[in-house]
Amino acid sequence: MEVVAAVLAWSISAVCQNNAAAQWLSPLCTRNNSAALANRLSSGALIYSPGSDGFIQATSRWSAYETPGIDLVVVPSVEDDVAQTIKYANQNNIPYIAVSGGHGAIITESRMQNGIEIWMNQLNTVEIDEDIARIGGGALSKAVSHSLWDAGKQTVTGGCECTSLLGPGLGGGHGLLQGRHGLVSDQFISMNVVLASGEIKTIDKTSDLWWAMQGAGHNFGIVTSVSVKVYDVQYSDWAYEVFTFKSDKVEGLYDNLNVHLLNNGSPPLNIVNYGFFMNDPELDPKPIIYLWVIQEGATSVDSIYTKPFHDLGPATTDIGSGTYLDVPRWVGWDNDAAPCQHVGLANTRFPIDIQSYNVQSMRKAYDLFTDVTKKTPELNGSFFLFEGYPLQGVKAIPSESTAYAFREDNLLISPVVSWVPSGSDVAQKATDFGKRLRQILYEGTGKSELHSYVNYAFGDETPQNWYGYEQHRQQRLLRLKNKYDPDRKFSFYAPVA
Ligand SMILES: Cc1cc2nc3c(=O)[nH]c(=O)nc-3n(C[C@H](O)[C@H](O)[C@H](O)COP(=O)(O)OP(=O)(O)OC[C@H]3O[C@@H](n4cnc5c(N)ncnc54)[C@H](O)[C@@H]3O)c2cc1C
Repeated sequence: MEVVAAVLAWSISAVCQNNAAAQWLSPLCTRNNSAALANRLSSGALIYSPGSDGFIQATSRWSAYETPGIDLVVVPSVEDDVAQTIKYANQNNIPYIAVSGGHGAIITESRMQNGIEIWMNQLNTVEIDEDIARIGGGALSKAVSHSLWDAGKQTVTGGCECTSLLGPGLGGGHGLLQGRHGLVSDQFISMNVVLASGEIKTIDKTSDLWWAMQGAGHNFGIVTSVSVKVYDVQYSDWAYEVFTFKSDKVEGLYDNLNVHLLNNGSPPLNIVNYGFFMNDPELDPKPIIYLWVIQEGATSVDSIYTKPFHDLGPATTDIGSGTYLDVPRWVGWDNDAAPCQHVGLANTRFPIDIQSYNVQSMRKAYDLFTDVTKKTPELNGSFFLFEGYPLQGVKAIPSESTAYAFREDNLLISPVVSWVPSGSDVAQKATDFGKRLRQILYEGTGKSELHSYVNYAFGDETPQNWYGYEQHRQQRLLRLKNKYDPDRKFSFYAPVA
């Protein structure tokens, strides 16, 4: 059933006024009285109920593991629809969650059951005015990048075409352009946010809430639109080389990455490196390691960055060039690639942010990955991500100025454990596997703190792991939470408290 709000309001209220029907439809008529909700919404808003095509599309997710339980989807067409839905849900004690790209996978989201999904899909505009763009709360990365590119502009977005701007951005947001400009959240200038009370507020750096929206923003409201800094495209050319390596190159590869690309925490401004290892039995019985070296402002990657990897003896190499818009296709982040599909797989990540590669730990992790995926074929589709984005723009922003706590970390590492959902036994094996891989890397850091990028988090981490160990950070988040969301309505995505 896919209907505009007004029609649904009429039909459900008619059914619910029939006493007999109301009895067996009681969940719909009382708890989720969609008619009463629909009456409050604009004519362009949509409501999807379970079983409809719209509902299936709105609730399908990148990961099918420990997902939120949705009884009803509201698709706002104007900002006030978000506010009305929140007020309605509060009055009826129904939980709610915002969804944009559907790539959130933290298991804390599953604490929401029998709730309303506010699907931001219709709030997807991109309006450009000189050096600022106003972007709708549900706009996806591809729409943002392509609209800006057509106007000769760019901003920092996540790399994947199918995640939203704000899903990543409210937790910091890493992307190809962060070396020049900082994180996605560092681009925010002002935003309209619907608070837990249902009040619509426009905030900018003068608001006490601003600090929290740049790193812990999922906890404080639903952003209906955000103004971001945009920049003239300076370098339209991009180039890449992709290497594959076999098992005997593990030490050499991560040593090379440390020495030649990480460069003691000052990697080149125009180089991104990204890779993973995974099983590809056609190429080798052991996992294959893929590495992309991507250069901005070049039609071929400068050999000073790639020679060490050629010298190591890759199994295969490939090269290519194009524009910024081509990068997602090269690395498999485009809308047609596997990571953008919602195909019912359970996908869980166990992230750790680190300073540099501990080569022995990478070997241990690789060997464990090999062993477990061989002995447990259900986990064979898992992979192990390692990402090295440029850092200058991120580190240029004072750490204490935003809730994003880990500007001093250099690399994002994340085992991604993937399986076809088939019961708790395999789920338990999967989570044990992910935790063991992360533990190896954690021990290899020699540090007491475990930093886990909130947007990759599994969900068993602590607020310290997501938002920083400093007491002042935790206290500030708690103070803001008590002020803006005292009833903990926004507590399903890495809750601060
Ligand atoms: C394939 C893939 C690629 C990724 N690439 C990157 C990357 O390049 N860089 C990076 O930093 N991260 C990346 N991530 C992680 C990503 O930041 C998170 O998965 C993020 O939650 C995805 O946002 P979404 O809108 O797609 O997901 P959703 O599930 O729609 O949203 C996740 C959460 O964000 C909140 N939310 C969404 N929209 C709003 C809004 N308008 N207002 C308030 N809250 C909102 C809600 O709490 C929601 O539960 C990637 C993840 C995947 C699976």
